[in-house]
Amino acid sequence: TISMLVLDEEGNLSGGCTTSGAAWKLHGRVGDSPIIGAGLFLDNEVGAAAATGLGEAVIRTAGSAMVVELMRQGKSPYEACKEIVERIYNKHKNHKDMAYLQVGFIAVNKKGEYAGYSIRPGFNYAVYDKENGNRMEDAGFKI
Ligand code: ASP
Repeated sequence: TISMLVLDEEGNLSGGCTTSGAAWKLHGRVGDSPIIGAGLFLDNEVGAAAATGLGEAVIRTAGSAMVVELMRQGKSPYEACKEIVERIYNKHKNHKDMAYLQVGFIAVNKKGEYAGYSIRPGFNYAVYDKENGNRMEDAGFKI
């Protein structure tokens, strides 16, 4: 998945999300990326979030919408991403395919605070702002 979340100079949020889907997917499978609320969600009063990883797990939790809801309730982007990743992890941790499960979220709020968090390490994301230019950031991870 390639997702982009933007907070512009006027404080407005926008976002986009694209994906090649999942390996060996069934014909006709619709992943999380094209579903608003699952792979991508934003509320211009609160923040924006986007997901990568196993789309079925993200859809079942309305993942990106939940991350934004938690930010609305006062959580930081990091806390919000972490809580939903942990929710997904806890739902799947006894599943036979858990060894392969990866889900991650990025999020930004109206203040420009941002974060990423994933089940497993190796999830990095790019950030740009006027003060510091381009850089890569490591997401936090659960296991
Ligand atoms: N989230 C995508 C899907 O399940 C996979 C990806 O991370 O690209 O379709």
